Amino acid sequence: MNDPTDPSAAKTGQSGEAVVRWCDWHGGLTGGATLIGVVARLSGADVALWACPTCLAKHRLTPYREDGT
Ligand SMILES: [Zn+2]
Repeated sequence: MNDPTDPSAAKTGQSGEAVVRWCDWHGGLTGGATLIGVVARLSGADVALWACPTCLAKHRLTPYREDGT
């Protein structure tokens, strides 16, 4: 279930579409963000962390892999 107040879940794009998301590293909206990780909150809701290409390179972030390999 998507929470409409959650910026990370507000817009779901088709594959290949540039989706505007919130970059959790510089704290602003960005297009073409990469999913870095999913954090489980005590409330039980998983929160996705997204980074823009700039922050991805700046912080040497690793894209999230669901299979964990
Ligand atoms: Zn950023």
